[in-house]
Amino acid sequence: MNTTDKPLLVLGAGIAGITAALEAAEAGGEVLLVEREPYLGGRVARNHLYFPKLCPPLCGLEINLQRLQRNPRIRVLTSTSLVAAERSGSGWRVVLESRPAWIRDNCTACGECARVCQTTVPDPFNLGMNQVKAVRLPHAAAWPHRYILDHDACSPEELEAIRRACPVDAVDLQAQPTRQELEVTAVIVATGWQPYSPARLDNLGAGQLPDVISNVQMERMAAPGGPTDGHIKRLSDGQPPQRVAFVQCAGSRDVNHLPYCSGVCCLASLKQALYVKEQLPDCQVDIYYIDRRALGRNEDVLTRVEATEGVRLVKGKVGEIKPAADGKLSLRLEDVEAGRLVDASADLVVLATGMVPNLAVDGLPLEIPLDDDGFARDDESARIFAAGVARRPEEVAASTRDATGAAAKALVAARRA
Ligand SMILES: Cc1cc2nc3c(=O)[nH]c(=O)nc-3n(C[C@H](O)[C@H](O)[C@H](O)COP(=O)(O)OP(=O)(O)OC[C@H]3O[C@@H](n4cnc5c(N)ncnc54)[C@H](O)[C@@H]3O)c2cc1C
Repeated sequence: MNTTDKPLLVLGAGIAGITAALEAAEAGGEVLLVEREPYLGGRVARNHLYFPKLCPPLCGLEINLQRLQRNPRIRVLTSTSLVAAERSGSGWRVVLESRPAWIRDNCTACGECARVCQTTVPDPFNLGMNQVKAVRLPHAAAWPHRYILDHDACSPEELEAIRRACPVDAVDLQAQPTRQELEVTAVIVATGWQPYSPARLDNLGAGQLPDVISNVQMERMAAPGGPTDGHIKRLSDGQPPQRVAFVQCAGSRDVNHLPYCSGVCCLASLKQALYVKEQLPDCQVDIYYIDRRALGRNEDVLTRVEATEGVRLVKGKVGEIKPAADGKLSLRLEDVEAGRLVDASADLVVLATGMVPNLAVDGLPLEIPLDDDGFARDDESARIFAAGVARRPEEVAASTRDATGAAAKALVAARRA
């Protein structure tokens, strides 16, 4: 396909943005892929396993990252944000700002800098559930495979020690933010989501009771590189739970919180029930749900969980979680099939919280049409196309389908220049 020399701008390098960039570049387009984090992969990189196949998401990401590195038509900018945009001809003139690159591209990830660094910070990759060195790899399989530095967390003396420890002179303590202005043919918005804040669910003990965690925390807890080295346990006493409760629709389909269904939380909890049973076969798992939404091939996961001994699916809405006198948690719920309020017990509770589009929280300096919940719509006349969870709550397979469609629409729009 013969497009103009100007690139297509893809904002966000989660699975949707990476897919859109690859599809557009492999069809002949020039692409600029911009990610605000220092690494690619988005939320999927934080999952332990992913449905429907229940394989490690980093395998699929790795294949895409290799395609990306092999493709000369894709330029990747990490730690970079869009700070201004205005219409220019039929495309856009955009201003991108990159945060200071304290660690340069020649970093070999040898780890010598981390050996001299004593300062620790809450680990953003593990949702602040553990501490990490201020200079570190963002996560073990991060790409670019380059250390990052929390500059402001360290004293000037420590920064200097970190600089001197680097055998390849990759630490640049004088680094400054950089800006660049350029013309792009179209914009694909693939800025994804963030978890609904469990702190707003105080009736469910979130943020107050250490053994009430969210589904995204469970993903990290079960992952080998996670805050508990992959061990599922109670954060209060470090003990493996004997009874785990999954509370579905925690803040979802609720006019006081998120009115919509995030579409993935049922599957996420079913998958996480299997994490628990695999690691702790004698543990009882109770899943309290309103509806069981597992469409298409994802129904296999539901069937597998239903057939697993020691897993109970209870149609019931949990309204309250309180600490119990025996150190466990007490759940008050409406058992819909029994038609009455009942009390249940658990050692560990996982709240299935939904996905909030980043666009609804952070916004972008682009006029993107949003629906009532903050998900993006395409604006063909403005050459803005949305993909992945920026567009609607959905799983990885649907996000990649969307991304392929967005890439095609953006390339076609560019040909009309
Ligand atoms: C608990 C849980 C478990 C899940 N498990 C599964 C599963 O097993 N299987 C499955 O298919 N789906 C699963 N999902 C859904 C899956 O996480 C999403 O489908 C997927 O993350 C969508 O990818 P995305 O690229 O649209 O968004 P994201 O993964 O959120 O990626 C968006 C990227 O954009 C970047 N970004 C944001 N704003 C900007 C900006 N302004 N500028 C530049 N970059 C920006 C972000 O840093 C991020 O890298 C799960 C969801 C939850 C809540």
